[in-house]
Amino acid sequence: MPGVELFGAEERKEVNDVMETGILFRYNHDKERAGIWKAKTLEKEIAEYVGTKYCHFVSSGTTAVQTAMAACGIGYGDEVIVPPYTYIATIEGVMFSGAIPVFADVDETICLSPASIRKAITPKTRAIALVHMCGAIGHIEEIIEICKEHNLILLEDAAQALGATHKGKYAGTFGQIGCYSFDFFKIVTAGEGGAIVTNDEQLYKNADSFSDHGHDHIGALRGMENHPHIGLNFRTSELHAAVGLAQFRKIQQILDLQRINQKKLKAVVEKFPQITFRYIPDEAGDSCTFLCFFGPDEATTRKIVKAFAENGIDGIQYWYDNMYHYIRNWGHIKSLASVTKLPLHVLDQPQDYATLQLPDSDKVISRLISMLVKVGWSEAQLEERLQKIESALQSVFEKVEA
Ligand SMILES: *Cc1c(COP(=O)(O)O)cnc(C)c1O
Repeated sequence: MPGVELFGAEERKEVNDVMETGILFRYNHDKERAGIWKAKTLEKEIAEYVGTKYCHFVSSGTTAVQTAMAACGIGYGDEVIVPPYTYIATIEGVMFSGAIPVFADVDETICLSPASIRKAITPKTRAIALVHMCGAIGHIEEIIEICKEHNLILLEDAAQALGATHKGKYAGTFGQIGCYSFDFFKIVTAGEGGAIVTNDEQLYKNADSFSDHGHDHIGALRGMENHPHIGLNFRTSELHAAVGLAQFRKIQQILDLQRINQKKLKAVVEKFPQITFRYIPDEAGDSCTFLCFFGPDEATTRKIVKAFAENGIDGIQYWYDNMYHYIRNWGHIKSLASVTKLPLHVLDQPQDYATLQLPDSDKVISRLISMLVKVGWSEAQLEERLQKIESALQSVFEKVEA
């Protein structure tokens, strides 16, 4: 969670600009707002940075996913191929748009594997919701090919990968539409917030109006604007956008520091040949928010996690046990426990989530450890951490070999 580590005067200044005018609403009030447009400015800067024509900022990464689904016209009965390892919001976004999540497998990129995507395609497949997990990009080139071959929409959930690239191109800009999150735990935060990016004007317009009750945002009289279609309220406020703007301007600084610190962590973990690393096709594009690696098997991986805890090393994620990131513990999704009836409850489904087995993904995620990379560590803190990591790993592998 690097963004929150660098909170300071810049965020206060942007928020104060809004407090001065009192216009917390992102649209209209042209005279009273005295030229202060935080959401619009943030959108412009995000689009410039990632190199898309359009960006639209919304209330969260989750609403960004749902807005992106709607903007692309993905809905009732459409099958969307999703990974079983993600943050659960991806799956929620698909379900609440009326579509059917179809789980494929992840491989050692910790993202969807092209081969398993091919197996999951049916005549009802509309889209792939590709998630760039833990700040880096997987087999993007092969997946783009599959989308072209089968005429599928590529929707990128790049909530965790703002700033990551593959051969110089930014995560979120490979498909028809991409999503980012600015929640409290992401690389930069707005407190809460999300964004969609696209080069397609119609998709942008769809997103812009869907996320604000259908408003077309033409003219100065909000109550008299046209509503080309039905929408919801997924708007951001100017206060959130102000924080997001100050944070977003720190992204390069954060990426640079993460890359330096991740290298140091990796140099220690690399000393243990029993450990292998997440495969990233273009490693130079890793945003380095995490260092992701694999133990030789589940039992040893659990021992490593335990040894890290015993040595007081924080920021360690073992996603296999996590309730929100891996399908193994998604009991509510397996039983389709929803407070309200969903299209999923009445539609024919290609997969029965209750009995679905994903042994290939289990084999990967049960051995996966992610180490959070912070930017605020002092030299001394980092040095101490490196020593602790080394002795924790030593204790595990000496025991294993003995
Ligand atoms: C965080 C996250 C989201 C949701 O973002 P929120 O802003 O928390 O709603 C969606 N997808 C992934 C992969 C995420 O990590």
